[in-house]
Amino acid sequence: MSMNRRQFGKLAGAGALSLGLGVVKGSAVFGATRPKVVVIGGGPGGATVARYIAKDSKGKIEVTLLEPTKRYYTCFFSNLYIGGFRKYESIGHTYKVLATKYGINVVHDWAISIDRAKKTVRLGGGNDIPYDILVVSPGIDIKYDSVPGYSVEGSRVFPHAWKSGTPAQLLKSRVINMKEGGTFVMLTPPNPYRCPPGPYERVSMIAHHFKYHNPKAKIIILDPKEKFSKMPLFLEGWKRHYGDMIEWHSLSNLDGLNRVDIANMTFETGLDNFKADAGCVVPAMHGGRIAREADLCNDQGWAPIVPGTMRSQKDPHIYVIGDTSVAASMPKSGFAANSQAKSCAMAVRHALINSRAFPARYANTCWSFLAIDDGIKVGATYKAGKSKIVPTSKIISKVGESHELRQKTYAEFFGWYNAITKDMFDTKA
Ligand SMILES: Cc1cc2nc3c(=O)[nH]c(=O)nc-3n(C[C@H](O)[C@H](O)[C@H](O)COP(=O)(O)OP(=O)(O)OC[C@H]3O[C@@H](n4cnc5c(N)ncnc54)[C@H](O)[C@@H]3O)c2cc1C
Repeated sequence: MSMNRRQFGKLAGAGALSLGLGVVKGSAVFGATRPKVVVIGGGPGGATVARYIAKDSKGKIEVTLLEPTKRYYTCFFSNLYIGGFRKYESIGHTYKVLATKYGINVVHDWAISIDRAKKTVRLGGGNDIPYDILVVSPGIDIKYDSVPGYSVEGSRVFPHAWKSGTPAQLLKSRVINMKEGGTFVMLTPPNPYRCPPGPYERVSMIAHHFKYHNPKAKIIILDPKEKFSKMPLFLEGWKRHYGDMIEWHSLSNLDGLNRVDIANMTFETGLDNFKADAGCVVPAMHGGRIAREADLCNDQGWAPIVPGTMRSQKDPHIYVIGDTSVAASMPKSGFAANSQAKSCAMAVRHALINSRAFPARYANTCWSFLAIDDGIKVGATYKAGKSKIVPTSKIISKVGESHELRQKTYAEFFGWYNAITKDMFDTKA
């Protein structure tokens, strides 16, 4: 379906109104014949792919970015905000430069459906936008019912804070206001989930706060897994920095989780009940709803892709990047989404304007903070294999590393934050 003039005027107006002259400039220079790319989602996947397609095609491709929020708050570094290392405002970024410098038509609205036959995306406002290629990067949705007793309402008591935005502020206030000597319970998610070391970094940052403000507090981790990312490094670091404050339990040793009793703030397992004074529940997750409803996902709710291009295995005109995609062996991370976006941008430009394409190369590093001047990391580089993305090299921090090395790793994490947010939004962190 093509847009009529009124609809286009409305859409262009929305972008121009909120973001300056992006739409006007693009349309005036190249007219209506440019191929059209629509990107759903303005996180590390979507913002990066939009920017790279616009930048490297030098205006030959018309790029529209759909993102409901005007300010994107990164999940990465939200743990540092909770631990008191960053101000909340410092992890928020706008899309202004993408519009004004790169001519991207940034539309602050939801994509509510995709018509794959007509190659259009319907917006919350009612308009349909046509595309030649659609890039889908909506991140994750939380499966509330994967934790018995938990719900959207329950997340006000035990916030998950696993998506961008204000729940991180709610969680921080729960941590800060927990009663003296109280118990914080953290329920971590089952695999696969976004940011494998993230729950354990969160525990480190909460422990860091307690160490200075509530030293008799306890943290109990209830984990549906038997092991987790960088486990020996976290366990060693917790002991060193926080003594006996943190207790980790695999739920398999407690006969599983029966339910979370929100009213009584209790976690009931097969063998024991854990009463919380504050807590965080991170349930299982799946790919963003827009991708699931467009039938781009498998039975588990993740979208299979072609490893060399990130093109959907279900639709040759759609690419899926970031957390929603099945990009195994890569973890679901902001670094990975940003890396996939660049290969995807190259493939999209090749498909639309026949620009040069090279074999895809991917990379990821996940840093985590244990305490001041103590950072650890795990990372790998990857190439496209026949049926999946395969690692070509790996690195991981080691137990017992020198203080100087940990300090260096800690500093790297800050450098990476500035670099990735610049790469996504072309703004200073
Ligand atoms: C606590 C925590 C710590 C983390 N730390 C790190 C870290 O240190 N390093 C790291 O690399 N990664 C980290 N991550 C993971 C990282 O945040 C995610 O992997 C990354 O954000 C995924 O990017 P994405 O673009 O796929 O999705 P998102 O960042 O979730 O972006 C998706 C965007 O799509 C938008 N959207 C969704 N649906 C629609 C729709 N229908 N229409 C329009 N827009 C839509 C959303 O509003 C959102 O802005 C962390 C995550 C958490 C929770």
